[in-house]
Amino acid sequence: MLLRHTPQKIEERQALTVNPAKTCQPIGAMYAALGIHGCMPHSHGSQGCCSYHRSTLTRHYKEPVMAGTSSFTEGSSVFGGQANLVTAIENLFTIYDPQVIAVHTTCLSETIGDDVPQIVSKAKDSGKVPEGKYVIHCNTPSYLGSHVTGYANMVKGMVKYFAENTGTKNEAINLICGWVEPSDMRELKRIAQILKAEVILFPDTSDVLDAPQTGTLQFYPKGGTTVDELILAGDSKYTIGLGKFCTEDAAKEMDSKCRVPYSVLDIPIGLSATDRFIMKISEVAGVAVPDEVTDERGRLVDIITDMQQYLYGKRVALWGDPDILIPLTEFLVDLEMKPVYIVSGTSGKYFEKRIREIAGDRVEGLQVKCGAGADMFLMHQWIKNESVDLLIGNTYGKYIARDEDIPLLRIGFPILDRVGHSYFPRVGYSGGMKILEGILGCLMDRQDRDAPEESFELVM
Ligand code: SF4
Repeated sequence: MLLRHTPQKIEERQALTVNPAKTCQPIGAMYAALGIHGCMPHSHGSQGCCSYHRSTLTRHYKEPVMAGTSSFTEGSSVFGGQANLVTAIENLFTIYDPQVIAVHTTCLSETIGDDVPQIVSKAKDSGKVPEGKYVIHCNTPSYLGSHVTGYANMVKGMVKYFAENTGTKNEAINLICGWVEPSDMRELKRIAQILKAEVILFPDTSDVLDAPQTGTLQFYPKGGTTVDELILAGDSKYTIGLGKFCTEDAAKEMDSKCRVPYSVLDIPIGLSATDRFIMKISEVAGVAVPDEVTDERGRLVDIITDMQQYLYGKRVALWGDPDILIPLTEFLVDLEMKPVYIVSGTSGKYFEKRIREIAGDRVEGLQVKCGAGADMFLMHQWIKNESVDLLIGNTYGKYIARDEDIPLLRIGFPILDRVGHSYFPRVGYSGGMKILEGILGCLMDRQDRDAPEESFELVM
């Protein structure tokens, strides 16, 4: 009993979050920045913040994550961090030679009110930024929002700093990617390639945070969207944002800065969201959907049909990021499962509205909450009041899983105690099969474990 103090009775809470279902803004900004080729993220704040951001990413991706820090001391906390940041920019370019430094702020530098663009222009004026190199920034005050907000802010920053409209549009489509795994980003590019659609995907952490072991230390792995591609994105004919919370601001910025029309779709997780994604690409790129894609879809539908008896009516509790939870909930409803409890630490009215729209009258007793107070404590209380058959979420749910003896499928961020999530995609039809395999594995293992000897079956 690790969570022995969680009471069953739910009291109204105004100003207390217990075991939040989110992490802090700069972690998202750092992850997004790693999706630019040759980029060094930089945390403008204290060393402690930077260590936390780096170690969370390192533990999830099982890869070393490099980042600079302005190393605030008592002095910079009082007088501001200008001198530290100017020195950091000089040192990073001199010693580590990145093409881009992506600066994000922290609670401390935001509270002081440091003006990062002004500091960066001071660094430029004093010759600390070499020719052909870039310093970009975004504000990530972590007393607001979550890691999702930080990711969205950095992606918008990429558009703000790089995208250029030369006045001549080309045939490319911008795919602004929400927070998914490097494997998912690779899968999105594979799907676009099969469709023969020309895309610029950003950010792109494939071959950065899942780079192969070559025996040689590479400071900047081969992956990541290049600066040239980010500049060129301003000439694309269309933008598709994947995940409203992570990408809508960037898509809007691209439209207002470079006149590139856009749509924002759900991240293509599960059957329906992938259908919409494929049809949108096919429409805007003017390409037909090839048999290869139709066959992948058919295989996913085949597993769903074959295994319906294990899925029907199973109650599920989910937590994590809104852009993942929305299509995942839709997938569960498509599978005729019952996603009954859903929490996200990231706030936004759209989230609850969309989840209720998806569930319609097919999920009785739906409880959904986001933002302050939408935490793992509340999730545990709901479960104590009426249990579920399956948990889906990040590592933080393992305590509930153990205490309540419920199987847990790990999807989301962070996953600190398993591997594989960054290598096997969960987007697209083949990603749907991977999710389905995970769900069925959990449910069928449980059935095996609980079956009395006389009904313990070899063939299921
Ligand atoms: S919440 Fe604020 S103080 Fe804490 S690690 Fe994040 S940026 Fe630093």
